[in-house]
Amino acid sequence: MSSLTTQEPITLEFTPIAISDLKAKVKSLEEGFVKLREDISKGKISIEELKGEIEAIQGDIFRLKKISEEVSWVNYLKPHGVWKEMNCRYAEKGLCNLWKVSNPEGAGISKDLLVFDDASKTWRINVAKFPSFCIPCALFEPRNR
Ligand code: SF4
Repeated sequence: MSSLTTQEPITLEFTPIAISDLKAKVKSLEEGFVKLREDISKGKISIEELKGEIEAIQGDIFRLKKISEEVSWVNYLKPHGVWKEMNCRYAEKGLCNLWKVSNPEGAGISKDLLVFDDASKTWRINVAKFPSFCIPCALFEPRNR
């Protein structure tokens, strides 16, 4: 079962971009840099090992740059998300009352962008903070219809 559902009987199967994986990768790169700097200053690493470490880091940076290029187009669509959030009948007080998130980690959405709904025991999406969520939403319906 998907982590992301609506009140309607709609089931979505999808593989979200795992932002948590990207964050973990950046964190591991930062930690790798700190350790490498320590190893260099303590003379614990040979030139050959250093070359290998640098090549691995360059590979990670190349992959992260590719991901960054792939998702940069989202910036052009952000105004559409803001407009949909402001005009959708399902957005109330900054929260989407249609989509529910049962497993934030599984859905790849930071809890900073969610509000826990005690009644349904699921998370609601704070679309005022995260209007990009509205960009691809096919369930948009204008207010005052
Ligand atoms: S556009 Fe979709 S995600 Fe945004 S408030 Fe409306 S129903 Fe929710």
